[in-house]
Amino acid sequence: MSEKKIKIKVRNVAKDKKEKIKKLKKPKVAIVSLTSCEGCQFALLDLGQKFLDFANSIEMIDFRLIEDEEDRGGKLDLILVEGNPVTKDNIKTLKNARKRSKLLVALGNCAAMGGVPEIKNYHEKANTIKHVYKYIQGVSNPEIKEIDNFVKVDFVFPGCPISAQEFLKYMPELLKNNIPVIPDQPVCVECKKAGNRCLLLDKKPCFGPMILGGCNAVCPSSRMMCQGCRGLRPNGNVSAMRATLKTMMTEEEFENATEIYGLRDDIEEKSVKMI
Ligand code: SF4
Ligand code: SF4
Ligand code: SF4
Repeated sequence: MSEKKIKIKVRNVAKDKKEKIKKLKKPKVAIVSLTSCEGCQFALLDLGQKFLDFANSIEMIDFRLIEDEEDRGGKLDLILVEGNPVTKDNIKTLKNARKRSKLLVALGNCAAMGGVPEIKNYHEKANTIKHVYKYIQGVSNPEIKEIDNFVKVDFVFPGCPISAQEFLKYMPELLKNNIPVIPDQPVCVECKKAGNRCLLLDKKPCFGPMILGGCNAVCPSSRMMCQGCRGLRPNGNVSAMRATLKTMMTEEEFENATEIYGLRDDIEEKSVKMI
């Protein structure tokens, strides 16, 4: 074999090796929890073997529910953020996560919409905190803000908690650096598929038509109203919804219900008043 041919062969072997190493390199992922109940992380653990299979397909850099080891820093492919940035440390962690990761994804209602903690924004924060602490002097009591007030968010896994099935469905796309789009269909679609009688027909309130589906309509399937934990649909008709609900609940009841999962400010942003 000529010297030239040997050189080409060696070069090709090196190229093949490089390609193989590239294929073996797993995406680096971290799950970061700010101030939260950690329920969204538990929803992942609830997947059991399916979650372990997913965990084997990536390099998990940080997931405090399953390991004690300190995250040693460095660039990542994707960071999932659960919870509210309430403390100064939370905000620092969030901003640092954005700096080091190609994609930053909100994991659940608290991170995406303020969640249950956002209720206090609407009710004299100082009074609310007195229910928890006897002496409130020196206790930090900031307004609750969604993570997109601090950093750019590339994708949201909605819900309280998130849908673990949806996590498995969309993560492969995200790990390829593609941003999926959750179909803009209301909770009512899955509710109808489940064969439920509509609560509205019985003059019972339900937010289903204006809320993003994908949760298998778990609440109306248990004869409970949808309170909107997955957030408003991009093209939902909030104004029509409020007009319909007017005969079933007062303005105050509507506002109270929309506070539970941080919907109220999103609705107010649309500047829609009860007709
Ligand atoms: S979205 Fe719900 S389950 Fe997830 S952390 Fe917040 S309160 Fe917990
Ligand atoms: S019960 Fe609620 S979610 Fe189900 S169809 Fe009626 S409005 Fe839609
Ligand atoms: S039915 Fe509504 S409140 Fe219940 S899980 Fe689905 S989006 Fe959330």
